[in-house]
Parts: sequence; structure tokens; C-alpha cells
Amino acid sequence: MDEDDITVRVAVRIRPRIPREIIDMCQVCTYVTPGEPQVTLGNDKTFSYNYVFDTEAKQEQVYETCVAALVDSSLEGYNATVLAYGQTGSGKTYTMGTGFDVELLPEQVGIIPRAIHHLFDGIRYRINQARENGMIAPEFKVTAQFMELYNEEVIDLFSPSSSKDIVYKIHEDSYGGIQVKGIKYKTVTSPEEALECLRLGALSRTTASTQMNTQSSRSHAIFTLHVKQQRIVPSSDNGDTNEFETLTAKFHFVDLAGSERLKRTGATGERAKEGISINCGLLALGNVISALGDKSKRALHVPYRDSKLTRLLQDSLGGNSQTVMIACVSPSDRDFMETLNTLKYANRAR
Ligand code: ADP
Ligand code: MG
Repeated sequence: MDEDDITVRVAVRIRPRIPREIIDMCQVCTYVTPGEPQVTLGNDKTFSYNYVFDTEAKQEQVYETCVAALVDSSLEGYNATVLAYGQTGSGKTYTMGTGFDVELLPEQVGIIPRAIHHLFDGIRYRINQARENGMIAPEFKVTAQFMELYNEEVIDLFSPSSSKDIVYKIHEDSYGGIQVKGIKYKTVTSPEEALECLRLGALSRTTASTQMNTQSSRSHAIFTLHVKQQRIVPSSDNGDTNEFETLTAKFHFVDLAGSERLKRTGATGERAKEGISINCGLLALGNVISALGDKSKRALHVPYRDSKLTRLLQDSLGGNSQTVMIACVSPSDRDFMETLNTLKYANRAR
């Protein structure tokens, strides 16, 4: 397949052992083939992906490899989605960069804060370029949204107190864009403002989760940046006039629910619908991503409507959008089965 044709990329990231695992003398059971995006679990379970990050990979490397180009594309009007998948404790929140409960060193900062800085740098660069060339500078408007999906219900993390009573409806506008009616948007004019939104939303998620029995491992958190740009392009009918062009892009950052929920049901495809407390979002996501990666299936049917998660992400998965799924795994032997499940899920998505 043509490299440009790939709209879904899958990365596996193996986190280092945490102190508890070292104390408990857990053994590392993941092995990355040197120079190859390939990981072997145990002795003989080998899988390949677009990228594999071993335990010592830095946040910057993950960002530059998987996400930076998507931020550049969003400044050209292309939608993008970055998803973190994996069992609870595998490093999803660390990788996405929404753990605000601890002080982080600059090098430990995760994907979303890096993307925010990169986006605003890109905006400033474009404005300065236009000015230096004596042109009218493009105008940008960036808005943020922060939602949580729990039990197939949308919760607005920007208005957490009221959210329990409101049922947010997802609908598609006449241009195929997905909207959530009533959800709060915040306009952000600097990286600091955007980061403050992210922090407040992440905190309200943590607060809610202690009240609602570790909800955060069972819910999906979706932070979205909308980038709207108005720029002047020379008129096509070679007159002296100029035309306005409006570009819009959506960038979703998704910290998915813990994938260990899937195990309970052992379900795939049809059986998914039978369970009560299963996470149909993760199953539907797997099916959508797998359909997108398979040209013959893509043409036939992509099952976006099977869950709220895939419905919400519909206009940013597939089509002209770029998607990266980062499957996070633990290196420890005691997580062997969960890691195997994640590696299989991610392999199917590839
Ligand atoms: P999840 O969100 O998947 O439940 P976390 O992101 O909370 O998992 O990670 C679990 C623990 O592992 C946290 O203490 C986190 O700081 C640590 N951790 C995860 N990934 C890394 C990494 N790449 N380097 C160092 N520590 C990590
Ligand atoms: Mg987490």
C-alpha cells in the first residue's frame, strides 16, 4: 500500500517497570526486535506494528514519531485522532499527558501538552510568515472541548456539576461533521489557556471518579481541539481580487477505558451486544479501525454507529483524517495475558 494511503497507524509502547513491579521481582516478558517495529511476548508470540517503543523510549520520541505530523496537517485543515489503548496501569494517561496529580519534569510531559505547544507555534509561524511576505495574516480560532464517555453517556468535563442531568445528543451536520449538542466549547488563545482547560477537565474527571468508583478506568476521555483558520488565497480568475478560504480541523485525543473490561466478556463482534457492563466502545473501535485498514472492507461498510465512541469520532477516523492508536502495555510477566490481549487487539487494528 502507498504510504500516503495509510490513514490508521498503530504503535505499541511498553512502559518501564514501575517500582512496585521491581520490588515484587516481576520479570520482563516483552522483547523488541532491534531495528524492527516488532515485539515478542514470552518466547514465541511475535507481532508487528507501524511503530514499537521499548521501555526506555522518551515522551519526545513518541510525540515526534506518532503525533507531530498530524498537528501540522491539522493546520492544513485535516482532522486527526490519537488514541491510547491498554489495560489500566499500562501508561495511557502518562502517554497522553493528562495526569496532573503529580509534578512532571519537562521531558516527562506527554502528547497533549506537546501538541498544544506545537499547534500554537505553528499558528504563530504562519502569521509571521504572511506578515514578512507583506500578505494579510491568516486568522486562527482554536476551541477546546473535553468529554467523557461512560456507559454510553456523554459527560461534559467543562461543566461537570450540571452534566449528570443532561443527555447530550450526538448528531451529524449536513457536511458530515459530528456535533454534540449542548457541549461546552472554550476558546483558547494561548498554550497556557489550553493547558489550563486540559488541567481543569482532567481534575474534574479525577474528582468524579473517586465518587463514582474508579470511573476513569471504565470511561473514555476525549479532549478535542478545533482549529479554524481563515486565510486569503489569490483569486482563481486571475484578477486582482483575493478570496477567503476557511479551513477547519478537529483533533481528538482519546484516553480510552481500561481494556481489561473486554476480558470479562471475552466477546468479539456479535457477542459484544449480549453483555451488560461490557465496553462496546472498545469493541466497536476495533471493528472500525480494522475496517479502515482493510481496503476491501472500507469500501463496503465501516460500523461507526455501533457505539457512541465511534460515532463521536466518525468524522475524524477514516476519510481524509489521520489516526494513530498507541497500544500501551506493561512489560511484566504478571500482566502477560492482558498484554497478549492488547497486542492482539492492536495487531488486528493495524
Ligand atoms: P493508565 O492510564 O493506562 O492506567 P498510567 O498512565 O496511569 O496508566 O501509568 C501507570 C503508572 O506507570 C504511573 O505511575 C505512570 O507514571 C507510570 N508510567 C507509565 N508509563 C510510563 C513511562 N513510559 N515511563 C515512566 N513511567 C510510566
Ligand atoms: Mg489512566
